[in-house]
Amino acid sequence: MYNVSEVTDVPPIDRGCACCGMRFPRPPDDNETQHCPRCQLHFPVASEAPERELARLRDHDQRLRPGYAAAWNFQSQYQDRMKSALRSRDNWKAALAEVLLAHEEAADGSCKICHEKEFPCSTWRKLERVNRGIHREVETLAALDDDELSRELYGDGGDYRSA
Ligand SMILES: [Zn+2]
Ligand SMILES: [Zn+2]
Ligand SMILES: [Zn+2]
Repeated sequence: MYNVSEVTDVPPIDRGCACCGMRFPRPPDDNETQHCPRCQLHFPVASEAPERELARLRDHDQRLRPGYAAAWNFQSQYQDRMKSALRSRDNWKAALAEVLLAHEEAADGSCKICHEKEFPCSTWRKLERVNRGIHREVETLAALDDDELSRELYGDGGDYRSA
């Protein structure tokens, strides 16, 4: 996770204020306004009085601290959501793989599960019609042994059983 104070290569916020850097409401066709309403009072000028600089720094400090905190919180929230989405995806993938991989070719060339004479059976063919990419991935999984499959589908603590 980023520590905001250690990030050095932050690009400027698109259409951000030229003084505080934050976004501010302005019409989409307005490319003239450089400063947000708050910064119009204190943006840097040549040979400015120290009071003006102090006012600017005070205002920025007051607004940017909560801004950092909010950015930090958003970052953790999105990270949690991404993790949970990936977990959910992994569960779907494992469930689909478990169902498909049970459809193995028997010694007589039929499907072990649905006993269709033709292999790949209609379950495999259906997946191929629905999504070629996923079909290819499950085919790749079919080439793994049980230990490799367990790791691939459930991580290190996982347990895939072909039985
Ligand atoms: Zn500003
Ligand atoms: Zn400012
Ligand atoms: Zn089958």
